[in-house]
Amino acid sequence: MRKIFLVDINKCIGCRSCQVACKDEHCDNDWSPIAKPQPQTGHFWLELTENERGRTPYVRVDHMPKLCNHCADAPCMAAAAAAGKSDAVYRRDDGLVVVDPEKAQGMRTLVDACPYGEIFWNESLELPQKCTGCAHLLDDGWSVPRCVDACPADALRFGDESEFAGELAAAETLQPELGTGAAVYYLNMPKRFVAGEVYDPEEDEVVIGADVVLRNVAGNTARTLKTDDFGDFWFDQIPADVYSVDIKAYGFEPVSLSTDTTTADAVLDSVALRKIQ
Ligand code: SF4
Ligand code: SF4
Repeated sequence: MRKIFLVDINKCIGCRSCQVACKDEHCDNDWSPIAKPQPQTGHFWLELTENERGRTPYVRVDHMPKLCNHCADAPCMAAAAAAGKSDAVYRRDDGLVVVDPEKAQGMRTLVDACPYGEIFWNESLELPQKCTGCAHLLDDGWSVPRCVDACPADALRFGDESEFAGELAAAETLQPELGTGAAVYYLNMPKRFVAGEVYDPEEDEVVIGADVVLRNVAGNTARTLKTDDFGDFWFDQIPADVYSVDIKAYGFEPVSLSTDTTTADAVLDSVALRKIQ
């Protein structure tokens, strides 16, 4: 049965316990024949990435653990085979992809073979290395790798693919266009947002309860909300697109704006609503 990782971005608190646990498990520890020791520096077999979006005061910070995707159609395996060493990288029955620390000796080209940048070069051992899914622990009776075991927020899970069947429909993989059959899935992957504030310049007060409608250019998506007690509106987790923003409030002239989130989130600075004279 294929094992997968399932990461829920909404639950990740960015504590880095997973990253530290990976280091603790692999640095200076020789888990041959699965893995040789990871160097103290330069390698991130699991890396917790931090992505800050928007700008003050509308800021989102997302944390995302990244690791080998244990691809079903792994380019690293293909590269090893193309180099005439098909046994240098192999897939276990549980789906975990392992770089053999003996047979892959000296194969620096494997570092560039991974399109996700998940293979690291160990200079002193002259060895390509990466996440093994802690296969040595699984073989010793553990049900999950160290990173998953260390996660205090249930944000990082691991198990048979069938265990997660109900959740995978809403999950995504990184760079799906690569078509590698990644076994690391993400729930609540960050999308874009449009946020801003509505105010009355005459009173120098925010406008509470204004109706704000967001439509994409194709006109097939419309979301509505009301400005909150601070005059703020915030459309979160929307697809990258070009949008119109229509704002109405009783006693004020309506306002229409357009905004583009194709490359970044959109922060609309204070939007003035003028009183109907
Ligand atoms: Fe290989 Fe990279 Fe896929 Fe991992 S993510 S299996 S290293 S190609
Ligand atoms: Fe996120 Fe869990 Fe890793 Fe902490 S241990 S950074 S909550 S995935």
